[in-house]
Amino acid sequence: MSRFQVKKVAVLGAGVMGAQIAAHLVNVKVPVVLFDLPAKEGPKNGIVTKAVEGLKKLKPSPLGVADDAALIQQANYEEHMHLLKECDLVIEAIAERMDWKLDLYTKIAPHVAKHAILASNTSGLSITKLSEVLPESIKPRFCGIHFFNPPRYMTLVELINTPTTQPEVLDQLEAFVTSGLGKGVVRAHDTPNFVANRVGIAGMLSTMKEVENFGLTYDVVDDLTGKKLGRASSGTFRTADVVGLDTMAHVIKTLQDNLSLETDPFYESFGTPAVLKKLLELGNLGQKTKAGFFKKVGRDVMRFELESEEYVPAGQKADEVYARMLKKPAAERLRLLRNAEGAPGQFLWAILRNSFHYAAVHLGTIADNARDVDQAMRWGFGMKQGPFELWQEAGWLEVAKMIQEDIDAGKALCKAPLPEWVFKGPVADAGGVHTAQGSWSASQNKFVPRRQLPVYERQIFPEALLGETSLPDWRIAGTTIAESKALRTWTLDGQVLIASIKNKMHAISPEVMEGLAEAVELAEREYDGMVIWSGDAPFSVGADLEATMPAFAVGGPDAVESIEQELQNLMLRIRYAQVPVVAAIHGMALGGGCELAVYSAKRVAHMESYIGLVEVGVGLVPGAGGLTYIARRAAENMAASTSKDILPFLTEGFTAAAMAKVGTSALESRKLGYLLDSDVIVPHKDELLFVAINEAKSMAASGWRAPHKRLFPVAGRSGLATIKAQLVNMRDGGFISAYDFKIGAMIAEVVCGGDVDAGSMVSEEYLLTLERKAFCHLIAQPKTHERILGMLSTGKPVRN
Ligand code: NAD
Repeated sequence: MSRFQVKKVAVLGAGVMGAQIAAHLVNVKVPVVLFDLPAKEGPKNGIVTKAVEGLKKLKPSPLGVADDAALIQQANYEEHMHLLKECDLVIEAIAERMDWKLDLYTKIAPHVAKHAILASNTSGLSITKLSEVLPESIKPRFCGIHFFNPPRYMTLVELINTPTTQPEVLDQLEAFVTSGLGKGVVRAHDTPNFVANRVGIAGMLSTMKEVENFGLTYDVVDDLTGKKLGRASSGTFRTADVVGLDTMAHVIKTLQDNLSLETDPFYESFGTPAVLKKLLELGNLGQKTKAGFFKKVGRDVMRFELESEEYVPAGQKADEVYARMLKKPAAERLRLLRNAEGAPGQFLWAILRNSFHYAAVHLGTIADNARDVDQAMRWGFGMKQGPFELWQEAGWLEVAKMIQEDIDAGKALCKAPLPEWVFKGPVADAGGVHTAQGSWSASQNKFVPRRQLPVYERQIFPEALLGETSLPDWRIAGTTIAESKALRTWTLDGQVLIASIKNKMHAISPEVMEGLAEAVELAEREYDGMVIWSGDAPFSVGADLEATMPAFAVGGPDAVESIEQELQNLMLRIRYAQVPVVAAIHGMALGGGCELAVYSAKRVAHMESYIGLVEVGVGLVPGAGGLTYIARRAAENMAASTSKDILPFLTEGFTAAAMAKVGTSALESRKLGYLLDSDVIVPHKDELLFVAINEAKSMAASGWRAPHKRLFPVAGRSGLATIKAQLVNMRDGGFISAYDFKIGAMIAEVVCGGDVDAGSMVSEEYLLTLERKAFCHLIAQPKTHERILGMLSTGKPVRN
């Protein structure tokens, strides 16, 4: 296969999706040109310019760093068609109208490069019909590329071929979308709304119907169908409000227009629900119009009531008994719900049954196999498990019988029986659709393995579905060298030692510290390098406060000082280890987690890494070397410049720590100084370990040695005075509390090196002592205790 490289992408359409797709391309360092229609008035790029400006304000942010919006090249179809020639991939994301898309294709076809892939982001139009207008030369390189909103955060991208798409083209695109963009690819058949929206919207409609059947209210339903059910925490109706009820109506209409009772036996349940019709009529489109199923009035949440057409107080939760049922093992859970006396239990069983029924009936037509359906629901709808996984977990045949009984009793959405493969043959024998041989393909009548593209070799531990028992489990994979309750040290290849924290949120407890120190020791003796990687996010939320507080209660500040000293020693041990230690970061790396990262020789960070020193939030200062790191980095940055004044290099790091700033992406974390330019940012979370191991090996292979221990200059008392003056202004202006001022001044004192002359040369140990003393002073303060207790009980910072 010839090498397909995406050097530049064109995105056509700067609407909700196009602009955000362009932003994500910038995030992953792919040059992008964003097109839209020429503006009728003012500069011709007006529409695109406005969209790009809008990206900076959108929440959650589509950009890793807002200023990077400037990297999106702006274009319009009147002046810039020639730019298309430079692009290896052209993604069309204009309004969902077949005629408009076809017109545009005719217009752009002569300008698309011969080797380029052209792909449509349509949510549900026929990809094959779209391809028909294209010249024969482009048809083999045309397909569907369906992103989910918001594209930076949603994992799923569905790729859809036409009968004329060259298979190689889809493989090339899958490799780019997976490794380059960090997405999870599902291959969908060219059927209306493809896989995720077909199953997901049918699920939403079924939920709305059952809500009416069982006479439940939206607040109770959202309480039941959110996190407790293993789904997105916004539940059913708040999700609809967030998506926009007009958008939802649009997707429902695609189902209504493109399906019929012949092609979908559930068709009759696809009618637009009366309440949705009413809300659309009233112009209550959800979050964007500030009213939908829910509406916020002051601090109160109200819910819409169809009968009265009024908003009434919401906030009701389901009876606790259902939450308890939902915590039971799958088989028991489904049985309990089905046999429940109360409407909420029966409702939950009904929506789950409908989802199993729908997925089974359609598996043969909408997707190649059951894995694609379950992955689509996980990645596109934020479900913890797809429908087939849950069904299989609960006992395949038992559940199948319950579904069929309900169908026969007229309780299901339609009379279509479950397909034969459910009850007889390989699936029934295996007890489900996901097996060690692969997942069930109803169209091919066999289990099919995962696609073996070279790009997947980079995922050592791909996200496995329930039942995919042939996939390795990282918790037990490789050779275990040492294992405690808190940490496992292991290796895959005998060359690189991997340390995985097992604590909740990967908090750094004394046991973790001990284990990591031993791991470094071992790595130096027997390995080329070491990687700190703990599987799922977060990387680490920092020192285990719950473990530290009892030490304080019993032994006072002295006991805490010795814990801090050990933590600092660990950081130094890692920094000066004789082998490279690589931190593989995904999600939060906070406080001690951030320190662990910055004291490592290198960081390999997933694009969604949120790094910061947050100790101020709990009334402390970083105590394990975070401040010493900030001072040292400032000195290093100054040394790399022609300046002799350290203060400008210190300000950013000081502010980040004093304001407990956390990067909202790896890119922003780098701006805060917690990642270096030489660190690696990885788009796909499942490639993190692969990249980290390879970094460790290549560092070792290129003769890596630990840095010299050297003295470095600090800003001293004059720097301290300058920073303090600013803090005084902030306090007197009411921007920070008196206690924030106190902590800020202590941070300033450490990063400036205390009461010494500007430019004095200090050692890391000297600063670490200052840092430790500041930490131990603060931990004895009542206001700090208030902050710690507040954080431990509510998870939110207390400002006192
Ligand atoms: P949008 O309405 O926000 O943007 C559409 C863009 O198309 C606008 O910038 C508009 O100027 C441009 N446009 C309109 N008519 C045009 C024409 N005749 N020729 C060229 N450009 C034209 O739409 P969107 O929500 O970004 O959707 C774009 C595509 O992505 C659609 O196919 C939609 O189905 C699909 N999609 C949307 C979502 C979503 O959640 N919004 C999710 C996945 C896929």
